[in-house]
Amino acid sequence: MSVTQVAAYAAPAPKAPLERTTVPRRPVGAHDVLIDIKFAGICHSDIHQVTDGWGEGIYPMVPGHEIAGVITEVGPEVTKFAVGDRVGVGCFVDSCRECEQCLAGQEQFCAKGMTGTYNSLDRNGEPTYGGYSTHVVVDENYTVRIPDALPLDVAAPLLCAGITLYSPLKHWQAGPGKQVAIVGLGGLGHMGVKLAHALGAEVTVLSQTLRKQEDGLKLGADHFYATSDEATFKELAGRFDLIVSTVSAPLPFDAYLGLLKVDGALVNVGAPEEPVSLNLFSVIGGRKTLAGSMIGGIAETQEMLDFCAEHGLGADIEVIRAEEVNEAYVRVQSGDVRYRFVIDTSTI
Ligand SMILES: [Zn+2]
Ligand SMILES: [Zn+2]
Repeated sequence: MSVTQVAAYAAPAPKAPLERTTVPRRPVGAHDVLIDIKFAGICHSDIHQVTDGWGEGIYPMVPGHEIAGVITEVGPEVTKFAVGDRVGVGCFVDSCRECEQCLAGQEQFCAKGMTGTYNSLDRNGEPTYGGYSTHVVVDENYTVRIPDALPLDVAAPLLCAGITLYSPLKHWQAGPGKQVAIVGLGGLGHMGVKLAHALGAEVTVLSQTLRKQEDGLKLGADHFYATSDEATFKELAGRFDLIVSTVSAPLPFDAYLGLLKVDGALVNVGAPEEPVSLNLFSVIGGRKTLAGSMIGGIAETQEMLDFCAEHGLGADIEVIRAEEVNEAYVRVQSGDVRYRFVIDTSTI
């Protein structure tokens, strides 16, 4: 079988608007599945990468690492999936498979670097192209099953936003009796609230203003505070076991660390582009942890999807047509989406 050209939306150069084009997909190999993409979520990091915010972008760039679709072909040695299966692909499509982290199922921390779903070089040296496209070919070991109980459109954002929040909530044991705060109520934050609530924790949203309070409480938060109000930091001092920050603006870390109990953790899943400052006494007193977390492994991503199916959790989405993607990017940048755009890829 030969390389196939498929329709996609791509940025031809840094900061250029996305436009319809075609990109190559590799032949379906022995362990590959061909996925007919149905929906692709728009992640804030898509915009960072298209605008080359992190540098060294590969163009043309087809973003999209929140992919949900249906398998239409499987390679001869595929054992985990069959034609017709509903599946997802997240932020990476390969890794070395032999380092300590890969063997532990933490492929996102592969010692040799994971292969990104887009803006990355595949093991064969060819650029990878993401989910704003009609089809993708992926190794079965980097593909996850979307349970029947989850509609594909609301499942797509779980592949990045969902796992990005699920992994730290599980690692730091959010659950009954735990006080958990989610900083920022956007694409990531709204999943954090839903997941932390479903895990049984008492959930507080820390948002700049009270503008989204009603939403936050509907999503499952027990409390909602404005961080622009200094009284918030006095009232909530020493309150939380775990704070997960989803914002990419530099936080006043010392103030947020003051909200933790002894042994509490402040975990960042968003990051500002510039270094931040910190008074180390903020972690020394109270034996606190300032940490980060990045997506999750394949097994944990599957666990998250199964958990979401069991609890009836999907993302709150706004489905758009492919030609609306540039407009959607502008709206994401101004925080004007509740809470994730998802491209209906049949419109590409
Ligand atoms: Zn993402
Ligand atoms: Zn590895």
